[in-house]
Amino acid sequence: MPQLMLSELREQVWRANQALVRAGLVTLSFGNASGVDRAAGVFLIKPSGVPYERLTPADMVAVSLADGSVAEGDLRPSSDTPTHLLLYRRFGSIGGVVHTHSSAAVAWAQAGRSIPPLGTTHADHFHGPVPVTRPLTREEVEGDYERETGLVIAATIETLGLDPLEMPAILVASHGPFTWGVDAEHAAENAIALEAVAAMAAATLALDPGAEPVGQYLLDRHYNRKHGPGAYYGQPAGNAKGPQ
Ligand SMILES: [Zn+2]
Repeated sequence: MPQLMLSELREQVWRANQALVRAGLVTLSFGNASGVDRAAGVFLIKPSGVPYERLTPADMVAVSLADGSVAEGDLRPSSDTPTHLLLYRRFGSIGGVVHTHSSAAVAWAQAGRSIPPLGTTHADHFHGPVPVTRPLTREEVEGDYERETGLVIAATIETLGLDPLEMPAILVASHGPFTWGVDAEHAAENAIALEAVAAMAAATLALDPGAEPVGQYLLDRHYNRKHGPGAYYGQPAGNAKGPQ
């Protein structure tokens, strides 16, 4: 992605946070979006505990990628900041991270189940089953909890041999979803897609507990028409507002 000025990134991260609320993904104040400026060595994240309706772009807190300290801003950053930091440091290709407690995705996380790709909506956004992490240990929870959450996410993605941009979502067991993308806007879009896909999969399995994942050929076709080198879904870059 082209590097945005920090002021533009502020706007984008603020908009991504608002998009989560508009999509109904935020319960109380659970949820946060961030976006990184790797050239500037910082990421911007929602402050902790400020009601969404009172947030302004200026409230987004700048956090150092090098050590997690607050680089700019008067407010305390989201308590999930160490998880975001770990993910940015581990996955160099990602530019935005989102965490929510959206109900359908949380249900899968609480059941400790990965979400199988049962149809094309899933395939459009996630190139395979959306994985679930192992439960965190007591030591991890009682220790540097938010950083340990990031470590477990990264370990799960790496152990499964996944490209983080092809699988931009994970369920943290007994907790909820984290999503990411090339920037904060795409990370929020993936959080919205994940919630829809989680609800569809639960409804499908309620109707037919034996429903099978789609074939690799359908998964590949749908994923690649949106994301592959020959992508043809939507409008070409520069004409994003054209008719869909
Ligand atoms: Zn949480």
